[in-house]
Amino acid sequence: MEDLIIIGGGPAGLTAGLYAARSRLNALLLEKLSPGGQVLLTDRVENYPGFPEGISGFELVDRMKRQAENFGLNIQSRDVSRLKLSPDIKEVITDKGRLETRSLILTTGATPRKLAVDGEERLTGKGVSYCATCDGPFYRDQEVAVIGGGDTAIEEAIFLTRFAGKVHLVHRRNELRATRLLQERAFAQKKMAFVWDTVPNRILGEAGVEAIELKNVKSGELTRLRVDGVFVFIGYDPNNELVKGQLELDGQGFVMTNNDLETSVPGVFAAGDIRSKLLRQIATAVGEGATAAFAAERYLENVT
Ligand code: NAP
Repeated sequence: MEDLIIIGGGPAGLTAGLYAARSRLNALLLEKLSPGGQVLLTDRVENYPGFPEGISGFELVDRMKRQAENFGLNIQSRDVSRLKLSPDIKEVITDKGRLETRSLILTTGATPRKLAVDGEERLTGKGVSYCATCDGPFYRDQEVAVIGGGDTAIEEAIFLTRFAGKVHLVHRRNELRATRLLQERAFAQKKMAFVWDTVPNRILGEAGVEAIELKNVKSGELTRLRVDGVFVFIGYDPNNELVKGQLELDGQGFVMTNNDLETSVPGVFAAGDIRSKLLRQIATAVGEGATAAFAAERYLENVT
């Protein structure tokens, strides 16, 4: 029986693990493949304090992982298929067997949202992408479309200008949601063109993306834009499959917690992007990981 199992190895999970290991809890962190999470999709992190020149997403999580392991955190690659959450013992069913724990921290994060238009699924990996860091270099001197107007879309569109000859930013309104600083950078980019009040209607192509059919939301007019790639950054959906029906969720499916990050089941905590909250950042995930581990430790002191 474990004292604490942490599910998910992004910044929230790794920080929870670091704090738990330093408190000498018998803690185990489970991650499907290897730790990292969505930060690995980011080329450069500029707003995590302590790195004035920025740091690559990969290096940042690698440092977090090594730091947690230095304090003795046990990290295992296991795919969790089911959870049975009760106020008493929590059961964790994985591809490598069943585990039991007295407390649990859920840091399963979120997944890029899909457009749900014709052609998207069929052409995913063949020109439709959700990761500029991974796929951007394939589009040297080609034309790509980026869908979305938030921080992610703008940051990734600017990143894509390093490779692509032209980046068409397609946004459903006529002003961006992204922070001012990113907007200023985007508007100053000569390789970027903005297509306002427009949504994708279909993604076209046989072996790969050839064009995108766009719909103007005001006039209803349909047009075609010839592009070689489509990058989709329209927000995130919570990875809540393991806890649906067991924990209280908000209207969008994110996990509800109290101030101590405890969910609706005693001894089960949530931290990072999976949690219902205002701001999803590495800086907030890390703080929540620390709080959840501390709260779990206090919980264990009271129940054992
Ligand atoms: P977001 O802020 O939710 O923005 C999603 C964007 O996609 C919005 O512009 C939205 O349009 C558009 N959109 C949503 N559904 C759509 C649909 N079905 N069709 C077309 N467009 C659609 O998501 P995000 O940009 O991924 O950011 C998520 C969180 O991470 C935010 O809190 C953000 O601040 C944070 N973040 C921060 C940084 C940074 O600080 N450097 C970097 C990345 C992300 P509307 O504007 O019309 O709603």
